[in-house]
Amino acid sequence: MSTLMNTYARLPVTFTHGKGALLYDDGGKAYLDGVSGIAVTNLGHAHPAVSAAISEQASSLVHCSNLFRIDSQERAADQLTTLAEMDRVFFCNSGAEANEAAIKLARLHGQRLGVEQPQIIVLEHAFHGRTLATLSATGNRKIQAGFEPLVSGFVRAPRNDLEAIETIATSNTGVVAVMLEPVQGEGGIHPLDREYLAALKELCRKQNWLLIFDEIQSGNGRTGSYFYYQQLGFKPDIVTTAKALGNGVPIGACLAQGQAAELFAPGHHGSTYGGNPLACAAASAVMDVISKSSMSERAPILAHSVLESFQSSFKHGSFIKELRQAGLMIGIELQSACGELAKRALQEGILINVTAGNTIRLLPPLVMEQEQAQELGERLAKTVNTWLEESSPLQGAA
Ligand code: PLP
Repeated sequence: MSTLMNTYARLPVTFTHGKGALLYDDGGKAYLDGVSGIAVTNLGHAHPAVSAAISEQASSLVHCSNLFRIDSQERAADQLTTLAEMDRVFFCNSGAEANEAAIKLARLHGQRLGVEQPQIIVLEHAFHGRTLATLSATGNRKIQAGFEPLVSGFVRAPRNDLEAIETIATSNTGVVAVMLEPVQGEGGIHPLDREYLAALKELCRKQNWLLIFDEIQSGNGRTGSYFYYQQLGFKPDIVTTAKALGNGVPIGACLAQGQAAELFAPGHHGSTYGGNPLACAAASAVMDVISKSSMSERAPILAHSVLESFQSSFKHGSFIKELRQAGLMIGIELQSACGELAKRALQEGILINVTAGNTIRLLPPLVMEQEQAQELGERLAKTVNTWLEESSPLQGAA
């Protein structure tokens, strides 16, 4: 029996190393990575520039604390604020922590305006993390159940429903911010309507609410631009990211522009590890590669290859409820629960993920080769074909 706490339902495979879009298990079998460690290794495994930056930094200075100036943190901050078109950044170690910082900024903004009990509007099907505040902001009862009392100060609205938010605005004078994922990831890859997001931006401006985008999963080149909002033609006040920022070295970031960027003062927030030299060296190398090699432009092209080959080999089109995509965030929603597909895919030599019960989620690395993308789509189709032909879901849908 493992002495690890029982927090994950792990698949029966152990990886020893990887290269690009391939991972190898302890028996030497190769797997095509369609998950990227859940949108983390956007530059693939063992990327030479990232590995070199980590080794070099590790051999000089790993950590010194935020009691002192850290050159590599300043450099990473300049790169990230430039890429994001934001004014300032706070570095932390994970997505949940980045969202905690954003929630604190929103509350501080409210308190400054004289709102004693500031409220943040959040959406149904949202996922913002597992800390107490972020699970309270998350729109999934399964994640909250057992951990009550939840953190107060969140008001829930259905996604893509501007009227619902306008109604909240008229009845709740405590609202100070709206926080959402412009592409809901764990919720099943749902890009929110662009008109809805633009109207929300305008509403936030009128109400002096902060608009917070959680781009922890959709950021860092995954959707075709560094951040997804750069395709929308406007910026949020605050954006959070983590996951692929360090390509596997833990680092998170909360960025802000305008008044939101000036809210924190010494003593308001902090993190022992946040933005340490090692994490920042990794993030700098990642940002260098993504910006200099136009890596994000590969996202829609690769997604097209995956989907085209999936669709040409998949035999049961009527079993697909909806296909959704934003760059290399792909959701294939099926007519029934399909959790067991991830295990079956392993036998086929591909790594996939199932989210929201019935949605195959693909998040391949941006460095994947065209042929590998086609192979991923083809092998996925084969896996789902066999599953449907051998088990009952097909009869249920017929
Ligand atoms: N927000 C979003 C959109 C996420 O996808 C995740 C993780 O899946 C988180 C927040 C939480 O990030 P972390 O697991 O690094 O705390």
